[in-house]
Amino acid sequence: MRRYSGRRRGVYISPLYVVLALVLAAAAIFLFFRQPEEEEDAPREPQGVQTNQPVQSEEPRPAKAATASGIACTLTELGEEAVHTGELILVNNQILFRFPREQDLVSIYQEKSGSYYVRDMEVLLSPVAMGPLNALLDDFLEQGGSKSVNVVAGHRTEEFQQHLFDQSAERSGLDHAKKYVAQPGGSEHHTGLVVDLSILHGDGTSGDYDGTGEYAWINENCHRYGWVVRYETGKEELTGIWDEPWHFRYVGVPHATAMAEGDLCLEEYIDELRRYPFEGEHLTVDCADGTYEIWYCQGTEAYLPDSGDYQVSGNNVDGFVVTYKVS
Ligand SMILES: [Zn+2]
Repeated sequence: MRRYSGRRRGVYISPLYVVLALVLAAAAIFLFFRQPEEEEDAPREPQGVQTNQPVQSEEPRPAKAATASGIACTLTELGEEAVHTGELILVNNQILFRFPREQDLVSIYQEKSGSYYVRDMEVLLSPVAMGPLNALLDDFLEQGGSKSVNVVAGHRTEEFQQHLFDQSAERSGLDHAKKYVAQPGGSEHHTGLVVDLSILHGDGTSGDYDGTGEYAWINENCHRYGWVVRYETGKEELTGIWDEPWHFRYVGVPHATAMAEGDLCLEEYIDELRRYPFEGEHLTVDCADGTYEIWYCQGTEAYLPDSGDYQVSGNNVDGFVVTYKVS
């Protein structure tokens, strides 16, 4: 059947021109679509180098996802309260402790090993830090230290911190108190993850703990037991506290190791961890305890491993840190 019966006569297009036109059209289309690709190849931020801005996605995050290393995870709502709970919470005069209704604490006197002293039965500690405190001070004795370490402070209530602050203000003035004593809520002692050490000699004399001499071993090795010297010289601007070689904070072995190796105070480390969101590159830490993969999740939900040995802690600011034991 002829459909183009009305075709004008005398118009003839050579097949050669048709082929040429098609080739040109194809080339034009190719170049047109190639353009954006070339733009993408323009210099951009190298992978792995991230800013401190967490990855923000417009799309809802998938409920199930795996890490690049293959750990299957589920997005889990943990709640606002959990952001302010856990071994890694940052507490200072700017970021206050949120006092929970109940806090799990044990008396150091009742749980301690025979390697050290404690001021009295009222010095309390979180149970997660109790074993690591015994291990640190047992090994201190084991490697040649003397039995002379005295734990003089642990957990503090809001009321007791208020009492310390008022006492200092009364004795030395409000300005002095503001400079040297944490305000109620701003003391890391509220967490129950802190001990202050002092010295008690066999002859009954006592002294300040300065982390030198035989005690230098404790300050140099505490990270292997999950403890950090929280306030060090050079970090005053960040922590707001002067050098305190007697104040130890428990954060867990992988984090204490990463902080010690990177010479980071907790303020810096919490900030640093934001560079390792679940969707991006993760932090790997090799420590006395094994190898760990660590990632950060912003908000009140976090990607938690479906199986395996892991811990999750709030950072007391804006999200969670997940610590997964690889081996
Ligand atoms: Zn202290």
